[in-house]
Parts: sequence; structure tokens; C-alpha cells
Amino acid sequence: MKLLLKIYVFLIFVVAIIAGLSRNISPSKTGNKYPLTSAIISIQPFDGMAQKDVLYIQKKLQKICPNTEIKATIPLPSSCLNFNKTRYRADSLLKFLNKKTPAGHLIIGLTNKDISTTKNGIVDWGVMGLGYCPGQSCIASTYRLSKTNTLNQLYKVAIHELGHTQGLPHCPEKTCFMRDAKGKNPTDEEIEFCFNCKAFLIKNGWVLQ
Ligand SMILES: [Zn+2]
Ligand SMILES: [Zn+2]
Repeated sequence: MKLLLKIYVFLIFVVAIIAGLSRNISPSKTGNKYPLTSAIISIQPFDGMAQKDVLYIQKKLQKICPNTEIKATIPLPSSCLNFNKTRYRADSLLKFLNKKTPAGHLIIGLTNKDISTTKNGIVDWGVMGLGYCPGQSCIASTYRLSKTNTLNQLYKVAIHELGHTQGLPHCPEKTCFMRDAKGKNPTDEEIEFCFNCKAFLIKNGWVLQ
């Protein structure tokens, strides 16, 4: 009898975990306030980004969201520097971008400087990009990208971070744009959004083939 009770409790526990996990990945429960059907994507270049590179990203982003705009280039705020002034804090930059962004807009910052956040217990962990999940702002940096395939990789980082703004978490699929970089740069292995991520984004108004 005791054993049966233990099995019963264990089964309830397993069902609860599965229910919890599926809630995290369910495309129908995104809580996303800024689906691309109603949002404008503002591209915010920071000093050092070449205008032609910004235009390239805009052209690519227009294919998934026709309403994009490029804001005037601005300096990176010195208040967002890390403790030894070697990198800019990506989380502080997201807060900075958020303050500048009215309702109905998503904003993506583009920089060629190194950016960092706190991850896996490491206080100053260098990243290619960061985005609220969900939220209005994200940022992508060329600093950690390949010197020969920079723009293609920057676009992949940009749509990964914009995917986060929609509430899309990381994806275990190796070829999916939502793959977790885990401190490396796997963007050349990423080919497209996988079936599940694509379905999630299409529900949020993304134009994806
Ligand atoms: Zn991510
Ligand atoms: Zn995926």
C-alpha cells in the first residue's frame, strides 16, 4: 500500500513537471505584448557601426517585419560600462534602450563594442547579444563574431534576440536560430528557425517562409 502511494505521488509529480514545461514552450501562451503585426522595429546603431551594415540588417529585418526604422546613431552611454571599463553591460544597455522606446515599438541596439552580462555565476560574461524575454528591447554586437562572415552572423544574432523579445526561449535544435550559444559562436551552424520556433513566431506576426 505504501509503495502504491509513493508511485501515485511520483506520477503526480511527473505530470506536474511536464505540464510546467509545456507551458514554457507553448506558442499559444506567449504573453507577448508586442507581436510584429502591430509593432515597429526601431534599429538603434551605436557609434562605430558602419551605416551600410545597419542598412543591411534593416533590409533583412524588413522581410520579417515591413515596419522598421533606423534611428540616428548615438554614443554608448558611459554609465553602462563594466567595473573595469573594458566592456558595456548588455543588461544596462537594455534598460537604456527600453527607456527610449514608446509602446508599440521593439528596439534593437547594434554595436561593434564588446558587451557582457552575468551568467552561470560569472559576473562579466561576454555575449554576442541579449534580449528581454519577453520585452521591448534587445541588443546585438559584432565584437565576438567572425571577421569574414560578420554581417550574416550579426543578422542571426539580431533575429535570435528579437525572438526573445517575443517570449521565445532557447531551443535545443542545433540548426535553429534560437540555439543557446553557450559562450561560443555557433551561428554558422544555424540555418533557420525550427518548426516549433517558426510556428511560435508566425503566431506573433512574423513573416517567415
Ligand atoms: Zn538567447
Ligand atoms: Zn527552435
